[in-house]
Amino acid sequence: MIFEGLSEKLQNAFDKLKGKGKLSEDDVKAALREVKLALLEADVNYKVVKGFISKIEERAVGHEVLDSLTPAQQVIKIVNEELTDLMGGTQSKISFASNPPTVIMMAGLQGAGKTTTVGKLAKQLKNQGKNPLLVAGDIYRPAAIKQLQVLGDRLDQPVFSMGDKQSPVDIAKAAINNAESNGHDVVIIDTAGRLHIDEELMDELKQIKSEVIPHEILLVVDAMTGQDAVNVAEEFDDALGVDGVVLTKLDGDARGGAALSISSVTGKPIKFVGTGEKLDNLEPFHPDRMSSRILG
Ligand code: GDP
Repeated sequence: MIFEGLSEKLQNAFDKLKGKGKLSEDDVKAALREVKLALLEADVNYKVVKGFISKIEERAVGHEVLDSLTPAQQVIKIVNEELTDLMGGTQSKISFASNPPTVIMMAGLQGAGKTTTVGKLAKQLKNQGKNPLLVAGDIYRPAAIKQLQVLGDRLDQPVFSMGDKQSPVDIAKAAINNAESNGHDVVIIDTAGRLHIDEELMDELKQIKSEVIPHEILLVVDAMTGQDAVNVAEEFDDALGVDGVVLTKLDGDARGGAALSISSVTGKPIKFVGTGEKLDNLEPFHPDRMSSRILG
């Protein structure tokens, strides 16, 4: 499970502080060195770790903490607040259009979990009383259209497809017309991925963005790829501009480096996390809860 190693190491570092009673500046600095190592071992981006530790040090090495009756608790509280902040601070939700349908465009590399996430998101929205239309816009991966149709059948929600001969832009536009005529208040567009970022992929996504003007572009990245996920997110955001990230496969990610780095590096919030292959395994991302979980 995610953050296992990190959690244990941070708790060890803080247990040492708790055992001491009154703390000196050196005690706090020694604990923060352990925190720093633990974060680096969890594959958190080096720059992110440096900035994070210096912020905590600034707050924790002062009279307010050292002269407090519970200095160790104060240090943990500061780390908790800064960890929450690092992961985006507050929960960031999907913004729905005041004039439906809300158009959500999914983007990401092949295998990141886009098509699966379209299904998971549709299920969650349906449970909230919405009527989403799923759009098969990944015309290059042979199984993607079929995969989406299977998910739509399971959810009993329609899937809009025009096969693999029309352009994704035309498919997306026709899908929105279809949604308007059939009372769908949300349109979720699956798009093509590639094994690596290339210009052709970005051009296609940019074209969909400029012609469809989605309300929300969600970038799907695989947490198990660690810092690669962070680099991919940065590149997509620079080229396309995204509104939020869905971090998939958190269930298979023991370290948690992407979860801790992505929002700080890109400035974009993690909106959802994927925690398994099933349709129910999509959770809204709560930075504060995640931070409490790490600190145990
Ligand atoms: P796409 O190419 O981006 O559309 O990726 P897919 O949706 O086809 O997903 C690729 C693989 O990742 C599939 O086997 C999914 O079942 C799996 N997958 C997607 N999300 C998750 C997740 O949150 N956890 C796990 N364990 N597997 C996932």
